[in-house]
Amino acid sequence: MLPNTLAYDVFLELYKDHYLGKVSVDIGDEVGRVRLDAVGMDVLSVRRDGKEQAFSYDGKHLEVGGNGGSLEVSFKRHIGNSLMGLYRADYIEDGKEHYVLSTQLEPNGARMVFPCFDVPNRKARFRLKLRVPAGLEAISNMPAVDVREEGSTKLVTFAETPPMSTYLLYVGAGDFTYLKGRYRDVDLSVVAYGGRAERGAFALDVAARALEVYEEYFGVPYMLPKLDLIAVPEFAMGAMENWGAITFREQSLLLEEGSGEAARRRVASTLVHELAHQWFGDLVTMNWWDDLWLNESFATFLSYKVLDRLFPSWDMWSDFLSSETSESLAEDSLRSTHPIHVNVVDEDEIEQIFDSISYGKGASVLRMIEAYVGEDAFKRGLNVYLKEHSYSNASASDLWNSLEATSKKPVSKIMSAWVERPGHPVLEIRSEGSGIALSQRRFSYLGDLAATWPVPVSYCSSGGSAELLLEEPSRELPVSRPLKLNCDGVGYYRVSYENWDEAFGSCKTRNDVWNVLVDAYARLLAGGLEASQYLSLLSKLRLKKDQLIFLEASGQIASLYPLSHSAFSSEMKEFHSAQLSIWSSEKGENASFLAALAARRLALVDADFGRSLVERPFGTLDGDMRYAAALSLALYSDDPFERLREMYARSGADDRVKLLYGMTQIRSREALERALQFFKSSDVRRQDLVQIASASTNPNGDLVWNWFTDNFQWLREVFQGSGILPRLISRMVPYIGLGREDQVKRFFQEIQAPEASMGIRSGLEMLEVYSRLKLSLAAAGSRL
Ligand SMILES: [Zn+2]
Repeated sequence: MLPNTLAYDVFLELYKDHYLGKVSVDIGDEVGRVRLDAVGMDVLSVRRDGKEQAFSYDGKHLEVGGNGGSLEVSFKRHIGNSLMGLYRADYIEDGKEHYVLSTQLEPNGARMVFPCFDVPNRKARFRLKLRVPAGLEAISNMPAVDVREEGSTKLVTFAETPPMSTYLLYVGAGDFTYLKGRYRDVDLSVVAYGGRAERGAFALDVAARALEVYEEYFGVPYMLPKLDLIAVPEFAMGAMENWGAITFREQSLLLEEGSGEAARRRVASTLVHELAHQWFGDLVTMNWWDDLWLNESFATFLSYKVLDRLFPSWDMWSDFLSSETSESLAEDSLRSTHPIHVNVVDEDEIEQIFDSISYGKGASVLRMIEAYVGEDAFKRGLNVYLKEHSYSNASASDLWNSLEATSKKPVSKIMSAWVERPGHPVLEIRSEGSGIALSQRRFSYLGDLAATWPVPVSYCSSGGSAELLLEEPSRELPVSRPLKLNCDGVGYYRVSYENWDEAFGSCKTRNDVWNVLVDAYARLLAGGLEASQYLSLLSKLRLKKDQLIFLEASGQIASLYPLSHSAFSSEMKEFHSAQLSIWSSEKGENASFLAALAARRLALVDADFGRSLVERPFGTLDGDMRYAAALSLALYSDDPFERLREMYARSGADDRVKLLYGMTQIRSREALERALQFFKSSDVRRQDLVQIASASTNPNGDLVWNWFTDNFQWLREVFQGSGILPRLISRMVPYIGLGREDQVKRFFQEIQAPEASMGIRSGLEMLEVYSRLKLSLAAAGSRL
């Protein structure tokens, strides 16, 4: 048997492009061949209790015979630029080349760094020692306890970690600077490369305040002596929750002059999400990747709860509904969706399930269940769960059991249905006699399917409101219309109303209005509502001053606009012009951020407005407004690519992303081709490449599609192991495939890209939905 908690001694001697490593681990009285995960190494020797051992190594696993004792493996490995495992991120500062070495180990990158048992439920203590070039700072999960300069190198020994999963280990080295703070007795630092740490003041402040809220909410104090927030120059995700050493892409941690309000929110929400993981994920970890969703759903749900407490004026629940809930409902309306709980068999699939189902749907279902059991029982159940499984692993059912015990409600039964079944229900209302017939099916854009869930239903009518648990396919309700189901939009289900105007008229809260709007939009995409009817509903919301309604309605019309400029440009313009005047006349951080979003969408359809933005010097605009300005430069200036590129050369990380977005929208074919090529140049960080997704709505779809297919193998290499490619495909294909459906299908049939299979399936299905809508819009247009 392997010991319950393993202990690894890891020594890594880091150079710029390779390292030498030695790892020892006591395998107790384990009998027979031992198999360690180890990818892409040069295994130099294996010793057992000091004696040389025979071993076999196939590039993925290292097998050693014999029984028990202490194994010591010496190895060598190269350090490349791919964003998984231990990688090197190069950057240029003051004309000089620099680099940072950093790790990204979730889900299975630890085996790319050193031989280990690389599964989440093999928790271990780590005693890490690093030798780095003398000019670099070394960093890991725990504080350094000993630092020695030895010639041109520095030897750093870190304190032993508590038991933790391999994917949470962190190793970093670079010319880091620190911005130090303190929370209670915890050393809190922002760590950044190239002298950027000063820009982390906002993050440092938010971190201290959020830790306090989490400690109170979880009932468990933060458990490590320090917490570093580390900005690295190239990073595949937004951030990664390595215990005590959270890594971020620069734009998710640091602010710069003119960053704008959106950037502050991005920093705060990314940070607060990763802090939730220090408990939910790091202290208590899922048994296996099939419960990854629980980590992500909870961190997502809790981050909004905490942000709402720290920044009440931000109205974060608006963001939750319009992004997490709406976006996941959309993804979940495809037949190719997957259940929240995925049986992960093929490890290549793990990174593909970091999607809006794991984050947004999971978080929304948690919101529904919290409303069902009550906030207090929910919190108490969570406290019990965290205390019982600290420094250990647990599964989702352990949590349902805790919640069931504190709430005395059938949480396990409800949650297992919601978590195991793909999709979500649509409840249909039909007037029958003096009552209402209520029925449920699985909603899908391409046609509903038979299925049932235990649905916590709430409804309000003129006779008052009530709740029930609908478990059967249909039942009668002794109420009459007008009737609004899903009060306050808490339930993760859709409703199909007989009369949409009446449904809007029955709304009691702004969440109700949002909820009906989301349902109407889904009906439009499913072919059950005429575009003219939908547009008439939308036009009634033009003058509403409400963040949630604005975000939702604006997002919907902006998604529809590329399908048919003729059908949607008028509403696109009217809506955003009205909303721009509403938010421009308001004061405060929310208003400026919303005005900028309205401006960005208005600039697409209003040339006069766009030209007025081109005339204003970019640097004098507030950070959020620069998106609209970059877009306007692309659409309405002469020689747009040259202008954007020249500004790009002079800009910081935040502005560069905005300028890249602008480049994707250039209309002149020749300039667009140059812009697309620019994305491949070394001037564009690989992490920012995802901006190319916006090019899918460019009317020159043929050029974008050609670029995409020509560079597909390159994109695969760049995004290898990160899970970004499937998300990129699912965002681009629904638009870029319009008008070339067969060609696109054939392309994906012919290439074999199993690492993107889920994104390909959902992208092609959404393309079918959009193509059908586009056809029906054309038919309706020709009837007019
Ligand atoms: Zn997360």
